[in-house]
Amino acid sequence: MRDKPIPYGRQNITEADIAAVVETLKSDFLTQGPKIEEFERSFAEYVGAPYAVAVNNATSGLHLAAKAVGVCPGQKVIVTPMTFAASANCIRYCGADVAFCDIDPETYLMDTRKLAEMLENHPAGTFAGVVIVDFAGYPHNLEEVRRIADRHGLWIIEDACHAPGAWWTDSEGKQQLTGNSRWADCTVFSFHPVKHIATGEGGMVTTADPLLLERLRLFRTHGITRAPEIMDRNDGGWYYEMRELGFNYRLTDIQAALGISQLSRAGEGISRRLRIADRYDEAFRDVPGIKTPYRAGDIGHAFHLYVIQVADRKGLYDFLRAEGVLAQVHYAPLHLMPYYRRDGWKEGSLPVVEDYYAHCLSLPMYPTLTDEEQDYVIEKVLEFVAGK
Ligand SMILES: *Cc1c(COP(=O)(O)O)cnc(C)c1O
Repeated sequence: MRDKPIPYGRQNITEADIAAVVETLKSDFLTQGPKIEEFERSFAEYVGAPYAVAVNNATSGLHLAAKAVGVCPGQKVIVTPMTFAASANCIRYCGADVAFCDIDPETYLMDTRKLAEMLENHPAGTFAGVVIVDFAGYPHNLEEVRRIADRHGLWIIEDACHAPGAWWTDSEGKQQLTGNSRWADCTVFSFHPVKHIATGEGGMVTTADPLLLERLRLFRTHGITRAPEIMDRNDGGWYYEMRELGFNYRLTDIQAALGISQLSRAGEGISRRLRIADRYDEAFRDVPGIKTPYRAGDIGHAFHLYVIQVADRKGLYDFLRAEGVLAQVHYAPLHLMPYYRRDGWKEGSLPVVEDYYAHCLSLPMYPTLTDEEQDYVIEKVLEFVAGK
């Protein structure tokens, strides 16, 4: 047992981060100031997107994205069941229904073959859109998802909360950054402390569509605008119009300052995560009873999570906890949550994701995890598996 337990994920705050926050605290703006736009511009550049809209968390970002693409009561939207609740809840916030599509047994992402089948087996117009998730940091091939979506007139919201800095390869052999918005209508990122970039609470929505950008901004601030080109009239300098029923989903300048400082080290963080993943792969690759994460040769994994599968997952979870390693399970499938069971989802509805859930465990994965700490985690996992 260690005196300090090792968590599955944690933030990395440096003196430069602290100085950036203090500087903003001493400035004229705590919110709605210049740091927001600077953070939006830097983040858009980092993921290669034309536009980015900063929000107070990714759950708000998903809600804004759903409002922007026009989700409304009576619609049905296809969502992956292997994600955090917010990926599906944003659809319910808008009064539409959620239909889950099972996952691929290797990548754990929504199975695009099953998505295509689901669309072909229903009358045209049954589904309005699809919410995909770059689970654990494994990037979806957006060109492929777009092709399927276009055949059926769907919009795409990509929940990339696990995947800033990930990339995939398109049909011309070109690397495409996750969230660059060339295929998805909106992509959403989170700055919760366990994610790659931490601002306490925070999120970002990227898009390439100026109309979606305008709606994201409108819904972020009460549905209120001061932009003359979209107002019905203009009574003078004081005048603004509330044109939609929006929200207050703004990020503060204090958080944006922290985000800008964190973003400057995001590339380093990914390199460190990849090195940790390589070391786990090496330690576990040839061990019977441990399944390591699949990684295609032509993608850049962002490794928010390093997920292994074992036969006795609960046994391993409890053993590691007793030894001071706080591994986690990501996630109990959404369709088995009591809230979504009300729609008739039950055990056996989505066999692949249910089998994955029975065996998965996320091991510690964050840039400041030391080699010594990782060796301890590896030793304990091997000790448990050997004893079985
Ligand atoms: C963390 C997370 C969210 C929610 O992010 P918040 O910023 O905490 O609202 C949504 N989707 C996924 C996949 C996440 O991992």
